[in-house]
Amino acid sequence: MIALSILLATLQQPTLPPLPLARTDTSPFRRLELPTPTLIREGSGRPGPQYWQQRADYTIAVSLDTATHTIAGRETIRYTNNSPDTLRYLWLQLDQNLFREDSRGSALTPPDARFAARGFKGGFEIGFVRAVRPSARPATGRTDLKTMENGTLMRVELDRPLAPRGGLVSLEIGFSFQVPEHGADRMGREQFPGGWLYEIAQWYPRLAVYDDVRGWNTEQYLGQGEFYLEYGKIDFAITVPRGFIVAGTGRLTNSLEVLTAEQRGRLARALQSDSTVAIIAKNEVGQPSSRPVGTGALTWRFSAQNVRDVAWAAAPNFIWDASGWKGILMQSFYPPVADSIWRESTRMVRHSIKHYSEKWFQYPYPTAINVNGPVGGMEYPMLVFCANRRSREGLFGVTTHELGHEWFPMVVGNNERLYAWMDEGFNTFINIYSAREYFPDQAWLRARGQAEQWAQFAARGIDEPGITPADRVTPELLGQVAYNKPATGLYLLRHAMLDSTRFDTAFRAYIARWAFKHPTPADFFRSFEDGVGEDLSYFWRGWFLRTDVVDQAADSVRTRRDSASGTTLTGIFLSSPGGLPMPVDLRLTFADASVENTRLPVEIWFEGDHFTYVRAFEKELVKVEIDPDKNFPDVRRQNNSWSKSQGARP
Ligand SMILES: [Zn+2]
Repeated sequence: MIALSILLATLQQPTLPPLPLARTDTSPFRRLELPTPTLIREGSGRPGPQYWQQRADYTIAVSLDTATHTIAGRETIRYTNNSPDTLRYLWLQLDQNLFREDSRGSALTPPDARFAARGFKGGFEIGFVRAVRPSARPATGRTDLKTMENGTLMRVELDRPLAPRGGLVSLEIGFSFQVPEHGADRMGREQFPGGWLYEIAQWYPRLAVYDDVRGWNTEQYLGQGEFYLEYGKIDFAITVPRGFIVAGTGRLTNSLEVLTAEQRGRLARALQSDSTVAIIAKNEVGQPSSRPVGTGALTWRFSAQNVRDVAWAAAPNFIWDASGWKGILMQSFYPPVADSIWRESTRMVRHSIKHYSEKWFQYPYPTAINVNGPVGGMEYPMLVFCANRRSREGLFGVTTHELGHEWFPMVVGNNERLYAWMDEGFNTFINIYSAREYFPDQAWLRARGQAEQWAQFAARGIDEPGITPADRVTPELLGQVAYNKPATGLYLLRHAMLDSTRFDTAFRAYIARWAFKHPTPADFFRSFEDGVGEDLSYFWRGWFLRTDVVDQAADSVRTRRDSASGTTLTGIFLSSPGGLPMPVDLRLTFADASVENTRLPVEIWFEGDHFTYVRAFEKELVKVEIDPDKNFPDVRRQNNSWSKSQGARP
């Protein structure tokens, strides 16, 4: 009985309509998924009360052999484990290994064949790696540690576990390497009539970063991607032939030994001077009187606080000049053959440091140095390498760019190897205003950061996501993807989407919150939103994580009479076929030639990519233009206007 009734019920079942399809939120406005906030990295974008990072202090002493172009010496690293983890091994970065013939980076960018033929053998030679512990008997205070190399990285096995939350280990490492002539355009050497000029960086084994996000950061150094380093205090000593002048990150701590009394006096005057003072004038270069009396090599000593790296340069023929601002010594070092525009370098340095300090965050270091040599343009704490440029504008451009890196990534220490947009891009953005202030009358500078220049590139369809690690970006596109696009994005926020007051407040807060720390993209997104009071998920996603484009269209206009009120309503049919929604700037022209400008908020796209803007106008609408001032990077302006005379868009 029961079975039969079920059967009958089944037979009598009517035909069912299909089930409604399940949907997910695919709107460009859906909240960006970010890592879950913690007390280390908070939902507000601030470092939390449990924020920690490791500390690496170095004492380094090396000699430069100018006959073999070899740097050899040793370092002591005092590594403080502030993490909550016990560490049994450490990873160190051996960036010089990029220049080994068989390195992974060499496979990507083969070294100059002529160069290899001259017997150059790149890469670190590691003499020893030891743990050093205070001991009554010095002989037992040192233990050789086992190591394992992996390309540009070296794993060091600790003989005793390194305790969490403050455990300290001291390592002593002996190392040497031959200086490559062109070290991935980040370091190198060049021969001048007076001798070799050396620009030295990535020159000592450095701790890889151990952080709360990924543990050890062990990306190989392949050449295109830059660096991620721990903060600390670095004291270093460079021994060079007596005729050499050394420029280095930090304070020169033994000027009594390496400078003449005259030079020390000039430096003291320069520190108080708004204008440039010669420390070694052109006619003094290479003269015996420009060196302290005596014989034998000289050791130059430098000390730097709150730095993630140090670099230096040495040459027997540097012209050296300097000036000062607020106790900061601005310096330039350049060979006599440098273009005469280098006489303006120190002025450019001073302008840049002052400008960025006043606009964004006070420069926290005692000196800023520009060195002319073979490296095209590269940044290190307090010191940058800039090659000759043909024009004042060119030299200023590279100088203010490299010095802008003192803010990103030297102060705000992001992971450059993964997120070049957070240093190159942010820096390129702040460069715009530094250049406009230095060259107030040059109209061409106005194009920097403008939406239109980006739209022209984006329209080509070859853009790559800004979040892509530098080593995976097509080299020819790196300038667009890692520099121009993020800079234009910030410019768009500051000038078109938000306003400069809100932008500047939030951007300064991000810098201050993450100064001398390690922010991630999520920390930036959150901190910035927290500061400006907007959910910018759609913008972060479309602009930085994807390659969505802006395309806004004025499709048509229709009018209808509202029978109840008797008024005529005009509907302006707009659409946003591009994946990246933006506010809409409308210019409406009426039959009597009057014009109304209005802005529709980005929220008009909440319900989809079509929107009808309805208004009751007193006059007849004859023309609609979207974004007439070109504030937004619209890739298809052909669909931006509608006019009545043509019945549709022209
Ligand atoms: Zn750069």
